[in-house]
Amino acid sequence: MRIYRTSVGKYFILVSLGSIIMLGLILTALSSSTVKQMKKKDTAEYLNSLAKNLIYVYELSDDTGLGFSMNNGRLMIGDEAVGSDSSIVDHLKDITGAEYTIFVGGKRICTTIKDDTGQRYINTYNNDIWNEYARVGKTCYLQDVEINGNEYWGYYLPLRTQEGFSVGMVFAGMPSQSISVTIRNMEIKMAVIMIFISVIAICAVIYAVRKLLRMQTTITNYMMEIDRGEFAHEMPKWIISRDDEYGRMSRMLVSLSESLDGRVQKDGLTGLYNRSAAMHHLKKYFVEANSPDGRSFTFAIGDIDFFKKVNDTYGHNCGDEVLKRVAAVMRNNMQDAGFVARWGGEEFILVFKGKLGPAQEKLEKIAQEIRDTVVVFDDYEVKVTMTFGMVQYHSPNNLDYVISKADKLLYKGKENGRNQIVS
Ligand code: GH3
Ligand code: MG
Ligand code: MG
Repeated sequence: MRIYRTSVGKYFILVSLGSIIMLGLILTALSSSTVKQMKKKDTAEYLNSLAKNLIYVYELSDDTGLGFSMNNGRLMIGDEAVGSDSSIVDHLKDITGAEYTIFVGGKRICTTIKDDTGQRYINTYNNDIWNEYARVGKTCYLQDVEINGNEYWGYYLPLRTQEGFSVGMVFAGMPSQSISVTIRNMEIKMAVIMIFISVIAICAVIYAVRKLLRMQTTITNYMMEIDRGEFAHEMPKWIISRDDEYGRMSRMLVSLSESLDGRVQKDGLTGLYNRSAAMHHLKKYFVEANSPDGRSFTFAIGDIDFFKKVNDTYGHNCGDEVLKRVAAVMRNNMQDAGFVARWGGEEFILVFKGKLGPAQEKLEKIAQEIRDTVVVFDDYEVKVTMTFGMVQYHSPNNLDYVISKADKLLYKGKENGRNQIVS
């Protein structure tokens, strides 16, 4: 049996895998950019809150309630100078891990940022941010701002007196590198999740395609068998019982094959196999008989006696009725014994599994039942008899030999007075 490795399957797999991979790539790209956006937004909010917090800590330490002010060029909170020591910013850095700087105008007066030698990065300037943002009361959020040779993401907030004048600014920031590492880790996590989902989707697609292909192959095989005239080939139950397109298709094919079987193989009047179907089945018996441990078969050909008279006396329709009744008797008796076919006109063949002896016994019974059958038609009661010629097949004879031998025996029976079996 040929199994088609269909290109449809490859096509299904290609299309599905292609879409899954494309979708996976698009989703990964989208999620990576979403992760970046979220991280940027989160970091902005976080740094803003850290900068606010720094101001708040100073305000809390102010017992006078005067707030920030300038005194002889020094930044004051209440009556205390700001930035004279770094303990507050250092303490906050210990808690949050962020860097802090306090500016007077654009000048750093206190910071947690140190250079390689451990010196604090003070008395340096960032006049650009001061002039453009803090001095006019604006906040500023920057990614990749360079401070002392390193890049930071940072938030600048103006420091204002109670009258609302900007006198300086505070900075809270984190090294860009640590943020990139966090983003990369999140991207890797997303990619792993995407790959995992894609693998599951690919497995599901392969499973589904294999299932589809199995159904398709089963249906194709069935059609090939029918095409070869093997109408007895069965459609598997598991596909017939499916409640989907394949189930419906298989049921339609079975019914199509049954009706084709009827049209191609059966004789319209008697419902028996016709002559060509008979030859097809006879060849199978022949092949089996010639196989190493094959069993023999017995071939009989029968003809209704004086059938012309039936037609002439009671009419052709009555003749048809007789043919049907005779055929029914033979069919009922041959069900497990072999098969019967209409060879033509009022001639039939009967093929018995096994040897001549039991076959002849069976045929005697059939002949007797035919003799006893009364066909009632238009108030007429018609009875017929049959003459048979019968031979057992012996290897290596060919089929034509067996058929002509049986035919000769039938002729002999006709000559010897009919209504008999000659073997
Ligand atoms: P014998 O005993 O020698 O066989 O005599 P017979 O009359 O049966 O033989 P013959 O061959 O002369 O006649 C066969 C008849 O069968 C002739 C034909 O009209 C009739 N016949 C063949 N096919 C059909 C059919 O399908 N229906 C009917 N009603 N008659 C048929
Ligand atoms: Mg006849
Ligand atoms: Mg005849």
